[in-house]
Amino acid sequence: MIENSKRIVFKFGTNILRNEDGDISLSHLYSFIEDLSYLYKQGKEILIVTSGAVGLGAKKLKIDTSGSTTLKQAAASVGQPLLMGIWQDGFEKYGITTAQILLTEEDFSNRKKYLSLRLTLHKLLENKVIPIINQNDAVSPSELEHASFSDNDKLSSIVASKLDANLLVMVSDVDGLFDKNPKLYPDAKLISKVEKITPKIEKLASGASSGGRGGMITKLTGAKVATSSGLYAKICNGKTPNIIRKVFDDNTGTLFLPQNTLSHKKRWIAYATNIMGKITVNDGAKEAIIKSQKSLLSIGIDDIEGTFKRGEIVSVYDKKGLEFARGIASYSSEDIEKIKGHHSDEICNILGYKFDDDVIIKDNLVLV
Ligand code: GLU
Repeated sequence: MIENSKRIVFKFGTNILRNEDGDISLSHLYSFIEDLSYLYKQGKEILIVTSGAVGLGAKKLKIDTSGSTTLKQAAASVGQPLLMGIWQDGFEKYGITTAQILLTEEDFSNRKKYLSLRLTLHKLLENKVIPIINQNDAVSPSELEHASFSDNDKLSSIVASKLDANLLVMVSDVDGLFDKNPKLYPDAKLISKVEKITPKIEKLASGASSGGRGGMITKLTGAKVATSSGLYAKICNGKTPNIIRKVFDDNTGTLFLPQNTLSHKKRWIAYATNIMGKITVNDGAKEAIIKSQKSLLSIGIDDIEGTFKRGEIVSVYDKKGLEFARGIASYSSEDIEKIKGHHSDEICNILGYKFDDDVIIKDNLVLV
């Protein structure tokens, strides 16, 4: 039941934190803080992913950052402390301590960094601190190069999935997912519950007619990461008064139901990783992996691309060019180049050593 959710990640988008003049919308932000404090006092564990650093910084510097990643980075460096200051001050009024965590997707790709981040965040929650997270824009241009600035949707879903949250709430300036574009069709209906994110549902966000529903695609991607990690996800409108308190109500926003859960390691493999290479396999290997949950053997490999080390993440493609799995390579690209198409028994002869019979062992392989 969604109301039993103990650990909740709230993601606030730039649009909902700014007013029409591009200034911070204090009325929104303070009402979020007040309602989040209420949930916190009810015993919920709260993590916040907040956007708005670039916008605030640009306003302060009186610059237009469009088209320049470097300017966005500079603006984010100015805006981030301002943004954090407002959240911190607000929560202080309710006696709640906050922490600032700035992340890039890469912090999740490196398993050591990821495990250390997990420990830090768990310690913060144990100590009743609310972590306030944003992308580390200043050091990571790639975080800012995405056309729509909607990457915090993905970041928040990764945080939620990795931190064993029960619910991800994406607070935006739209009511949720509609059956057609509400800007074009006044009779568009809000979909209040999505059992499973099927291609049909995805089409609602990505169809040509939905151009006005900015950011719905990335929100759905976020919802997909969350639900396939066994979490509830919700998209709701921050302009609705006291939406945070109403987050468990059926009649607010769109709720996405959790799907089967993947283990932590498999989630780590499936999401938020730097894919270092591509392995193309034959049909027999594909069938063995998909139907019989088998490992990937060298004999099934037709081709490889990219340079990667043993232990890095690779994508597995079929001969039609469709990615169907990801996994941790037990051999480097250099080794795989030599052993591809050969039987596992020959690995030792070819390389002079052998780590595993499998190029990707089944525990390190996840279907995507
Ligand atoms: N990190 C960006 C900012 O604080 C926002 C990115 C996003 O909204 O996805 O301005």
